[in-house]
Amino acid sequence: IEQLGSAVTGWNIGDAVAVQSNLSCGVCEFCQRGEESVCLRGELLGVSRDGGFAELVAVPASALVKMPTGLDFNASAALTLAGSTAMHMLTNRSQVRAGDWVLVMGGASGVGSAAIQIAKQLGAHVISTGSTEAKRRLAFQLGAEYVVDSSDANWPTAIRKITNRRGVDLVVEHVGGDVLVKCFDCLARNGTIVTCGATAGREVTLNLWPIFVKQQRLIGSYGRNRADIQATLEWAAAGKIAPVIDFIYPLAETQVAFDRLRSRNVLGKLLINP
Ligand SMILES: [Zn+2]
Repeated sequence: IEQLGSAVTGWNIGDAVAVQSNLSCGVCEFCQRGEESVCLRGELLGVSRDGGFAELVAVPASALVKMPTGLDFNASAALTLAGSTAMHMLTNRSQVRAGDWVLVMGGASGVGSAAIQIAKQLGAHVISTGSTEAKRRLAFQLGAEYVVDSSDANWPTAIRKITNRRGVDLVVEHVGGDVLVKCFDCLARNGTIVTCGATAGREVTLNLWPIFVKQQRLIGSYGRNRADIQATLEWAAAGKIAPVIDFIYPLAETQVAFDRLRSRNVLGKLLINP
């Protein structure tokens, strides 16, 4: 913290903080319950107001999360958004029991790389997917027991084979489109798909029959609560999860970083460090 507003209490100049990028109003019924991710007047930092590709950014004090000692800013930057999104999906929107089979789509992505580690810490057997050899290798290194090639259209068959046709208890999904539909093909009875994104398509056709016959659930997850960021950073400081940082760019090379993101060959996170 470089500077404090006159009405701010509880924070000091020099405090090391992470920022919740989904700004919340702090007064609506959801905010009052600590469910800022569904705030009625939520705002996105960097979308509806100036964001973090800068040396300094002004944010409401309610968006701050104290960084635990032992964590550096690069690790915090890599985990505060993507890692806490996975934490919200796995510990708030759904539950993982020890021994559960959890399928993490796109294990080399920001959300996926954190989800593998969190599910593993919660005692799950983790299966993941990756479209390239390098991405699949990373998913293995992060703790996945099996990693399936998602560029093979029959990947759900591979998942069913791994689980002896039983299917998985939980799918961490953030791709959308046809991928989401196929996730139902590898879901066990009483299984849950939790989804936080749909870059591959927002509209799908779903067969509702297996959803009620197999008592399955499709659960939405949006962003995170401050509590999820706190938990993510504490887990990282305790060594339970590690950030996956592909490359750190200076502010002047922000465009280069975006070009690399679009090339889809990034492992984990790209950081901008002004
Ligand atoms: Zn609110």
